[in-house]
Amino acid sequence: MPTTSDKPQLFGTNGIRGIPNKDLSTEFSMEIGKAIGTHFGVPEIVMGRDTRDTGQMIFNAVSSGIMSTGITVVDLGILPTPAVQYYCKMKSVPGVVITASHNPPQFNGIKCIAADGTELERKSEEEIENIYYNKSYHQVGWENAGTMISDQNAASLYVHGVMSHVDVAAIKAKKFRVIVDTGNGAAFSTTPTLLRKLGCSMVTLNAFPDGMFTSRTSEPKPENLKDLISLMSKGGFDLGIAHDGDADRAVFIDEKGNFIDGDITLSLVVKSTIKKGDRVVTPVSSSDAINDLCKEAGVELIRTKVGAPIVSRTMIENQAKIGGEENGGIVFGPHQYCRDGAMTVALILNLMATHKKKISDLVKTVPEYHIFKTSVERHKDWKTLEPQILKYSESTLIDRLDGLKIYLEDGWVLLRPSGTEPIIRVYGESKIKKRAEELALEYHALISGLQEEPSSL
Ligand code: MG
Repeated sequence: MPTTSDKPQLFGTNGIRGIPNKDLSTEFSMEIGKAIGTHFGVPEIVMGRDTRDTGQMIFNAVSSGIMSTGITVVDLGILPTPAVQYYCKMKSVPGVVITASHNPPQFNGIKCIAADGTELERKSEEEIENIYYNKSYHQVGWENAGTMISDQNAASLYVHGVMSHVDVAAIKAKKFRVIVDTGNGAAFSTTPTLLRKLGCSMVTLNAFPDGMFTSRTSEPKPENLKDLISLMSKGGFDLGIAHDGDADRAVFIDEKGNFIDGDITLSLVVKSTIKKGDRVVTPVSSSDAINDLCKEAGVELIRTKVGAPIVSRTMIENQAKIGGEENGGIVFGPHQYCRDGAMTVALILNLMATHKKKISDLVKTVPEYHIFKTSVERHKDWKTLEPQILKYSESTLIDRLDGLKIYLEDGWVLLRPSGTEPIIRVYGESKIKKRAEELALEYHALISGLQEEPSSL
């Protein structure tokens, strides 16, 4: 079978993304459905989607393609991506999620899930791409076409799965008061249900499905969470919670209204759940606080390239307990090997309940590091820039796992060309806040300068 090496790669880091009726047409979506069905060749494939207005249209196109290959589609409805993944894992069936995660409302996407609940391996995505480009679909006669059935129990299965990993009685006894902002996304029902079952009294924000995300932008960054932060800063609540569009991520606000960085949340989960002999997986981009915590606990830390599926796969290969990224995406191995927003919420409440501490006091127990993040537009090829950056840096310790991570005496700088945009991400970390910013800005200026000069290489 010819390969796709001369054809554009369709699947990115998190599935196929595009704008429906523009670069993600219904015709294309249906053919991808045929390719997915042909690739899996199983009796059933489950499907779920987030709240986007184009979700039903893309869902119908993809599911038609899958049914034409003789496979029954199990419709789980609107659900967080990790809830679909959990269903796949528990029933050992592959799945498809129609979602564009935190992207603006005009986008949508097609993401495939393996029968173990993890994101599909690149090798399998390539096979789907090959089938699509060669149009080698497994087409069945009318009498063998698949049908569609629905299962309304996926949300409840998921919520109970999450609860099975925490001390429900201890959390209930605390009667936490929380505010949860689901951002009109896929967790509009599951996270409030989980919180109610954990005995929390809550105020919900934007907890209804709205595919235009009119209340707030879907990315859970501080600047998009002004309402939640303002309500939390008025006092009277123990924890503020926000999700991205498909709720594989969760971020937190403390009882005083301070936004808690994803690195700190990951550190808290690592600190409270690991035991000697466990393994932790995180990309090169997350904080050295994780190094300190793992060292202190006698735990092996494995660093990977940036990307949630890479973290999950590395966790499986190494049987790691915790994994995660600095953006609020945390993977709790005993539950499932994928980022899971609701699981992260339950773990943080569990930590507050069992340690009998406020979230702001727990944050103080994490080694203090500061990360400053910026980016610079990329006009020149990274291969041209890389040797020039190396020539500039006097550091003798450079990690080339993903971009360049340059270790200096009082911190590090990570320079990494983005896989999706023509930019270079620049991160600086130090124990001193001002130094983290200085480091990032120094290398930002260097890269900008190098791109102004005519290339000498
Ligand atoms: Mg997401």
